[in-house]
Amino acid sequence: MIYLDHAATAPVPLEVAEEMYTILREHYGNPSSQYASGLDMKKRLEGWRQTIASAMGCPPERLFFTSCGTEGDNWAIRAALWQNRHLGRHILTTAVEHSAVLECCKWLAQDGYEITCLQPDGNGNISTQQVLEAVRPDTALVSIMLVNNEIGTIYPVGEIARGLAARNPKTLLHTDAVQGFLTFSAKALGADFITVSGHKIGAPKGVGALYISPRVRNPRPLLPGGGQESGLRSGTEATAQIAGFAKAVELRMKTLHEDQARLGRLKAYAIDRLASIPDLQPVGNSGAAHILSVSLAGWPSQNIVNDLSAQGICISAGSACHQGKPSHVIKALNLPKRVASSVIRLSFGPSTTEAEINACAAALRNHRDNRMPML
Ligand code: PLP
Repeated sequence: MIYLDHAATAPVPLEVAEEMYTILREHYGNPSSQYASGLDMKKRLEGWRQTIASAMGCPPERLFFTSCGTEGDNWAIRAALWQNRHLGRHILTTAVEHSAVLECCKWLAQDGYEITCLQPDGNGNISTQQVLEAVRPDTALVSIMLVNNEIGTIYPVGEIARGLAARNPKTLLHTDAVQGFLTFSAKALGADFITVSGHKIGAPKGVGALYISPRVRNPRPLLPGGGQESGLRSGTEATAQIAGFAKAVELRMKTLHEDQARLGRLKAYAIDRLASIPDLQPVGNSGAAHILSVSLAGWPSQNIVNDLSAQGICISAGSACHQGKPSHVIKALNLPKRVASSVIRLSFGPSTTEAEINACAAALRNHRDNRMPML
């Protein structure tokens, strides 16, 4: 199988699976138990938190484990609105956020919150100025992602944080950094809430984390209960998942700079290989080294995905979360219909090779030459 869909989820390295197995089989204590194996597990849990926090450049006591990125996004938004409940009920976000943010905002709109969704330009860009001009005295929260999961556009979160501090210091800033995980430092970003998810970097699915800055003094608990995660997110900790998460972070951090540089070269190589395919054009301003969106204008994306899948090549038609439905991100770019309906996403990881890109380019060329365009 040729796997070019790392933005959907990443393969789990053997070391991660082995670490999880060891925890499941040999260290199954509950971190809340007061005898030796429970205390041992609590110590390990704090060690894993430390590993992930130091990779994110934040203090471990401000990092809370969650079950996924979706949970982190929902928690951050609701916690911010609670903290700023006396400031106002206006939420500023963008039309290209992940559904975890947009669907949460839709629910909040039904509860009387006012949502402003900023529109990107045709390449997916949203500027700091655009964000700051839309901030109002009653804006409780700005939620803008760090890296777009479909087109790879990087948003100026650090600059927005600094601008917001000058313009309306009480407004809280959340960033969904799921696709930018490990390429940022929480301190440099300056956001009040940062969502990450393990399975995009080789951890198992079902574990993530939320950073909450000290500016949010008494964060609203997501799940009241037994008091785990400093009383903010109760529920017995998913120790094996978290162990796998920390191991995946540790492994990625070892070669992060080489991997990023290599991914950048691979992406340039892929752009070069795909450029010779007639009717194929790039989509969006992708600054992220691991995401490349293109359109084979006239050939519907789902047909391309199916055809390549039959040949053992995994790519996606937009985000894996959309399950074949037209993507709101591509719609927001306002592209001509035949371009928008033909967008596919290739995404790379440390294991991706030039040979895999060659095979994918050949399959796309073959699709273009041998399938009738339908649009
Ligand atoms: N945010 C972004 C940008 C994503 O790409 C994803 C996953 O695709 C999520 C949030 C949701 O993360 P999870 O699958 O861990 O819920």
